[in-house]
Amino acid sequence: MVEIDKKIIRAYALKNAVEHEGRAVVGSVISGLFNHGLTKERVKEIMPVLNAVIREVNAISISEQEKEYKELEDLIGHRPERGDALPELENVSKTGIVTRFSPSPSGPMHLGHILTGMLSSLYVKRYGGKFYLQIEDTNADNIYEPAYKMLKEDADWIFGNVSEVIIQSDRMKVYYKYIEKLFDLESIYVCTCDSEDFKKLVDSQKSCPCRNLDKKENLRRWKKMLSKTGYSEGEAVIRFKSDLNDPNPAFRDFPLVRINLTKHPRQGKKYRVWPLMNLCVTVDDIELNKTHIIRAKEHRDNATRQKMIYKALGLLDKYPNVYFLGRYNFTDLAISDSKTRKAIEEGKFTGWDDIRLPFVVPLRKRGYQPEAFEKIVTQRGISEVDKVISQKDFFEVLNNFNREVLKDNTRKADFEKCDEKQANLVILMPDASKVFAKSKIKPKKDEVVYFDKFGYARNNSSDSKAKNAKPTFWFCHE
Ligand SMILES: [Zn+2]
Repeated sequence: MVEIDKKIIRAYALKNAVEHEGRAVVGSVISGLFNHGLTKERVKEIMPVLNAVIREVNAISISEQEKEYKELEDLIGHRPERGDALPELENVSKTGIVTRFSPSPSGPMHLGHILTGMLSSLYVKRYGGKFYLQIEDTNADNIYEPAYKMLKEDADWIFGNVSEVIIQSDRMKVYYKYIEKLFDLESIYVCTCDSEDFKKLVDSQKSCPCRNLDKKENLRRWKKMLSKTGYSEGEAVIRFKSDLNDPNPAFRDFPLVRINLTKHPRQGKKYRVWPLMNLCVTVDDIELNKTHIIRAKEHRDNATRQKMIYKALGLLDKYPNVYFLGRYNFTDLAISDSKTRKAIEEGKFTGWDDIRLPFVVPLRKRGYQPEAFEKIVTQRGISEVDKVISQKDFFEVLNNFNREVLKDNTRKADFEKCDEKQANLVILMPDASKVFAKSKIKPKKDEVVYFDKFGYARNNSSDSKAKNAKPTFWFCHE
């Protein structure tokens, strides 16, 4: 049997406190102990010690916690999580990894985001380091203003370990600096060709007349892009000088910067020249010392383009370790920010939190725990193969994991503190009386919330299905 003594408990409590601004929480510490080999039978026995240790740990300062944790850290070691199938990443240094999750602010975070971003989050949890939420907002035409706030809130809840939020449009000075550097290296040029003409030329591996302009003329054109009286939208782009003989035409002299006169929701009319995604991402990865990137495989070509920019800057040795993920292709669910937004405006949904929608807030409302998603992405691992799945099958797996998470007792402590007003969804378990014994919540029998075939919660006691539904798990809204 694995030894779980007071010292081990203290180590896990300190770890949890250090990772969460000085406050350890019973549920999380128990999770850690389960990973260490604690069995359910022993939970009751260790609870008094655990509660006492947590009180002690939470009473000391973060610096004291950190100091003591350093001494006890080795007791815990870097144990793989229970059932953890995630492979090790390559080239991980002692200080951990630096990685990112980069949504565009076109809507709140959805299921697809969770399934790709979660892996990066999990690896930072495993190795330590930094996890940036990087909001890609240099295309003013693709911004839904409330999404800035929503994405941050969603990421904080679902990942729980975002180190810093980077908003790209706040970093224009940095991008401009790199544009000037790339002009200086003669790796980019201002192209004023008609896009159709340009395409014809590169498709036949020929350069456009702008490609061979000297530095001086390029800088003159760059100033003309920046000037209000200069080029207008669509009249000039900055292109990267790649290999015109590249077998893939999409890699030949791709654009990096363009003029966009749409008023930016955050920056207003401050800028007219906007770097495109590939440039911003590369600059941010360089400036923030990213070491590992896990991204959807549809970005494979962009990763290639970004690597070309690293190379032009002479920074190829700093290029991060990149991993690609296949998609979840739902056979019966299309996730679209813009379509959902329209449907909400038309009154087809009550809002972004409508529980029929596959976005973070409604999933949270339905009682899903972040750990259930962790389990689903862990089970899949880093796979480049697309997974074709129906909603029913997906939610069946997710429901099983969620039940497992909730059964682990990890939420019980939080639950006991809840009062009726905080309880959002309560799903009775077979031994509900025990679960609710110490709680102020006294749910009535007809308050059963069940999940329909799509996994959506319904709370309609007159519905015969609700009456016959097998209670699955309870959830207490934090
Ligand atoms: Zn040109």
